[in-house]
Amino acid sequence: MSSGVVPPLGVRTSDDYLEEVLLTVKAKNPAEPEFHQAVQEVFDSLRLVLAKRPEYRAAKILERIVEPERVLMFRVPWFDDQGQMQINRGFRIEMNSAIGPYKGGLRFHPSVNLGILKFLAFEQVFKNSLTTLPMGGGKGGSDFDPKGKSDNEVMRFCQSFMTELSRHIGPDTDVPAGDIGVGGREIGFLFGQYKRLRNEFTGVLTGKGLNWGGSLIRPEATGYGCVYFASEMLKSRRDSLEGKLCLVSGSGNVSQFTIEKLLELGAKPIALSDSNGVIVDPDGINRDKLAWVMQLKNFRRGRIQEYTNQFPKALFMAADPKLDHNPLWNVKADCAFPSATQNEINAKDAANLIKNGVKLVAEGANMPCTLPATKLFLDAGILYGPAKAANAGGVATSGLEMAQNSMRMSWTREEVDERLHKIMIAVHRNCYETAAEYGTPGNLVNGANIGGFLKVADAMLDQGLV
Ligand code: NDP
Repeated sequence: MSSGVVPPLGVRTSDDYLEEVLLTVKAKNPAEPEFHQAVQEVFDSLRLVLAKRPEYRAAKILERIVEPERVLMFRVPWFDDQGQMQINRGFRIEMNSAIGPYKGGLRFHPSVNLGILKFLAFEQVFKNSLTTLPMGGGKGGSDFDPKGKSDNEVMRFCQSFMTELSRHIGPDTDVPAGDIGVGGREIGFLFGQYKRLRNEFTGVLTGKGLNWGGSLIRPEATGYGCVYFASEMLKSRRDSLEGKLCLVSGSGNVSQFTIEKLLELGAKPIALSDSNGVIVDPDGINRDKLAWVMQLKNFRRGRIQEYTNQFPKALFMAADPKLDHNPLWNVKADCAFPSATQNEINAKDAANLIKNGVKLVAEGANMPCTLPATKLFLDAGILYGPAKAANAGGVATSGLEMAQNSMRMSWTREEVDERLHKIMIAVHRNCYETAAEYGTPGNLVNGANIGGFLKVADAMLDQGLV
């Protein structure tokens, strides 16, 4: 994509400038392909902005926005149940605090490394800006794998992780939440240790339990919000979710509540997955089946394959790393909700979805589509809701949890859900209108990137060189 402005001979274009900054990012952050990908996606949209707003270039906003304000990396030692010492690596990326305290989840997964967390923190800056709430961007986590660990092991790990992290966070500084591998159990152990170390009961984490400062609807928020966003996208084409066949990947927090809200709005979810494979249920995953999946995943911590033992009409397709595509995305459906992890839809998967007539892709996970896959969706003109907009409901409701903690009161379920719904409508409207204003109507990738960027960039201009 180009800015469309033809410069006089010999004058560097903003395209050159963006390319230069991107090359510097790649040179200074080698072996971080996910971070490069996230920066490139945002920069592709910003070509449209720099032509109109040269002051950003003069103030080196791009060079600053790609540089984390602070990166913390630390050792996390703990004892397993056999009394053996285990050593993991902990991280917190404090990316940008121009519009509020750092805010973003913690991920515990063996694939976690600095580059993945930097991509997530970078995305978070723009996403948080889109929510309309005052939150900066951050992300953190560890290469610790909670799978197969006992509750006591998870607790000892969380306590050791928080022993270091507690020095760097606080309700007005940096407020972590959950992400992959960090749910209610982990947030409980982390909060308990923070409180013990600091002798303070404060809203330093979100996603807390209801009787110790949590907000109603926070567990549901990312999935519900993604479906609200999808519904707004369909409305823009005078369509709705009623009767739509839907594919949902993953089977964790985001996937479960995506399915719950899809059912409420009359859609028919037919697929779920985990890292071992995919289940497809042609009869649909109804409320009872979803309740069974929640028990399986949140309490028994089992594998999605077990679904086919319980519901024999469903098919299981094992994950096969030798395949160049994921069979989940080759199932005929109207809507796709990738809700597992980054880069889970490649160009082949995108082509399969388009070939099968998909009308809408709404990203529950962060950056689930590769850049070529995104391009295919945009070129095909289907409704495509990028993660930083479509899954912003989670962090938005974390923002509502922070507000309730500051006021020392709790809103009802209906009140929080209504606020979440209004926020998702506003996020969609912002992306939709910004895309049109910058000459690419319907391109919500540009709308989200530009809409999220402008607020942060203007705050950075106001605050001087910091
Ligand atoms: P959970 O840990 O609850 O669930 C993650 C799901 O994705 C599991 O089913 C897991 O399967 C699957 N998964 C994870 N990694 C991989 C992988 N490498 N390959 C295949 N499957 C994988 O996490 P969440 O539901 O919280 O998060 C899912 C996505 O949503 C992430 O991208 C996260 O960043 C994003 N997100 C989450 C928010 C939240 O509020 N929780 C907010 C905004 C975005 P398995 O158990 O086999 O690993």
